[in-house]
Amino acid sequence: MKQHFIDNRTVPGASGESIPVFDPSTGQVYDSIARGNATDIDLAVRAARRAFDEGPWGRLTAAERGRLMLKLSLKILDHADELTEIESRDCGKPTKQARADVTAVARYFEYYGGAADKLHGETLPYQNGYTVLTLREPHGVTGHVVPWNYPLQIFGRSVGGALAAGNACVVKPAEDACLSLLRLAELAADVGFPPGAINIVTGYGHEAGDALTRHPGVDHISFTGSPRIGVLVTQTAAERHVPVTLELGGKSPQIVFADADIDALVPVAVNAIIQNAGQTCSAGSRLLVERSAYDRVLERLSQAFAALRTGPATQDLDCGPLIRKTQQERVQGFLKDAERDGIATVAQGKVADGAPAEGYYQAPTLLRDVPVNHRLAQEEVFGPVLAAMPFDDEADAVRIANATEYGLAASVWTRDGARQLRIARKVRSGQVFINNYGAGGGIELPFGGVKASGHGREKGFEALYSFTVLKTISIKHD
Ligand code: NAD
Repeated sequence: MKQHFIDNRTVPGASGESIPVFDPSTGQVYDSIARGNATDIDLAVRAARRAFDEGPWGRLTAAERGRLMLKLSLKILDHADELTEIESRDCGKPTKQARADVTAVARYFEYYGGAADKLHGETLPYQNGYTVLTLREPHGVTGHVVPWNYPLQIFGRSVGGALAAGNACVVKPAEDACLSLLRLAELAADVGFPPGAINIVTGYGHEAGDALTRHPGVDHISFTGSPRIGVLVTQTAAERHVPVTLELGGKSPQIVFADADIDALVPVAVNAIIQNAGQTCSAGSRLLVERSAYDRVLERLSQAFAALRTGPATQDLDCGPLIRKTQQERVQGFLKDAERDGIATVAQGKVADGAPAEGYYQAPTLLRDVPVNHRLAQEEVFGPVLAAMPFDDEADAVRIANATEYGLAASVWTRDGARQLRIARKVRSGQVFINNYGAGGGIELPFGGVKASGHGREKGFEALYSFTVLKTISIKHD
């Protein structure tokens, strides 16, 4: 059984209870994790508090923190094969996806390690006889609730930013995928992160996660997950007036005009929905195509979808399995609704021969003429299912793009430069990609949502502001 990681040590859970770890490719249990509770969270928060209040972590200079983060970045790359294997098996990610996630977390630590000593306040013009300056101070202890779809990447962007700003962190990974983060925390200790800077408590959301968001020793919460739990976390944090960054779901539109470069679009649009088997908050899950090009674009996409293969993580195909049985059933439920409501499946990939029958597989599926108000056009499926629908003109495209409760990412495909900007400005979304799509984009690009996709920004330098508090100091000297 894997235990918590607190104060740079492996610590058994207070309850002694465990949660089984399933291999999504086979449906078999191969390990277990500690079922953390409020006692474990309290231990971790106290460790983080000591590290922040008494040191050594809280006393390091920004340059020293940055140097440790850069060391961890290199250490991650040294252990890339090991971390790739852990993440691939735990999450069912094809090897290439898991490897990309490992590279990304190394890059986050490189980026934020380099940024640690470049984050500073300002001096402000004020009345004669005064000097006014601002300090960017860390919150103190930050709590991080992480989902299962990209444990390493989300750790990198959330914990990486918080550490660079000087906070000590307590992380509650998702119960379905936490093995890579436990190993990463050990690597951090190996490169010299002092005890208490990074603490990991595994367990269920309603137990360990809830205890973390309630703990009076936590000064800031970064939550990445579903809108439903995001509301609960916000309500809990509001009782203590603790700031929250919320990274929630999406139903991101890919808006394609008839003049678009369709050759360039097809591989990008396919990847936008099949990456990580569609279990990506910023998956490009809606395809909006100008009516005059609709059949032509769908024909090209049908060919691409029909060629897609899903199989065990180790086979490294286009898609791996979904994370768990209930997720597979949920996606199947969406497809049954499509069938019941006469929505046509225009193309479907295949599950590879020999994929274990107990694995949680779902072939990539392309649906056409999905009504704008249908749940397939409104709700996050979190599987490799693309909902296509036509639009008539620019106004119609913007109306449909904005007609969900989400607003995380969008793309616009057209050669018309003025139209690119008109649409980019009118779409309500945290990110807009023109003639490309990044499913969250690069590490350097601020990322986050509007509406039910959340608020606050992670990634890029911008994230560092959320992980700090601005203090104004006014000095009268004349
Ligand atoms: P989830 O909300 O069920 O769980 C996310 C995390 O919250 C897990 O660690 C879980 O244990 C924890 N949790 C559950 N109940 C809790 C509670 N009461 N208090 C505190 N923590 C609790 O989401 P999920 O199904 O694991 O993840 C998928 C969702 O995450 C999707 O909606 C997806 O779009 C979203 N997501 C968003 C982003 C983003 O950056 N915007 C990135 C990845 C995933």
